[in-house]
Amino acid sequence: MPDLAKLDAILSELKSFNARLVAVSKTKPADAVREVLNHGHADFGENYVQELVEKQSRLPSSVNWHFIGHLQTNKVKQIAGFVHLIHGIDSIKALTEVNKQGIAFNRIIDVLIQVHIAREDSKYGLAPDVLSDFMNQAVNLQLPNVRIRGLMGMATFTDDETQIGSEFRNLRKLFDQHQSGSPHFDTLSMGMSSDYKIALKEGSNMVRIGSMIFGDR
Ligand SMILES: *Cc1c(COP(=O)(O)O)cnc(C)c1O
Repeated sequence: MPDLAKLDAILSELKSFNARLVAVSKTKPADAVREVLNHGHADFGENYVQELVEKQSRLPSSVNWHFIGHLQTNKVKQIAGFVHLIHGIDSIKALTEVNKQGIAFNRIIDVLIQVHIAREDSKYGLAPDVLSDFMNQAVNLQLPNVRIRGLMGMATFTDDETQIGSEFRNLRKLFDQHQSGSPHFDTLSMGMSSDYKIALKEGSNMVRIGSMIFGDR
């Protein structure tokens, strides 16, 4: 069951940074989510479509569901009707599909573009040097039912805090570059249980924390 004292401590810590919390509930039962929701926190993150759809059906519509995993194009329609924010967009194909489903569900869907900032290899996230091109392409496509709200990234899994800090700083720089002139480009999602304090120092305004609140998975 969730540690509500820990949740409160994190929330008060975030306040001074003006940062929001996504409580990552993946692999945890709907009852655990309900307990946190009843405590007054409504933002939750899931990274599997199946699990998200299943929990969404069991819980009140007051929950803000964040999709934080890698979204396959053919699954967008399953979450398009209710998802609050999709954190992991890293292709024009996915962006275009979110727009298409946004039109189908008559909603404007908020997304973050995932950037690969870690030293580790990963299939996911745009390389930092192609982000500008991606943003220009997105503008030119004129997708009315998808709104790019900012960036998301994950640092290298390491104890080297200097390394983590410099990766988050890189993402923050990209965020600042693209923020100018776009009023709704306002969300920088970086930091999880092990590194959110570093992320906050580097300018994160949205952290995704799971195990510290819900326990080990
Ligand atoms: C699981 C997950 C988290 C939360 O990780 P914790 O270490 O449990 O805080 C954050 N972001 C993403 C993308 C995740 O998949």
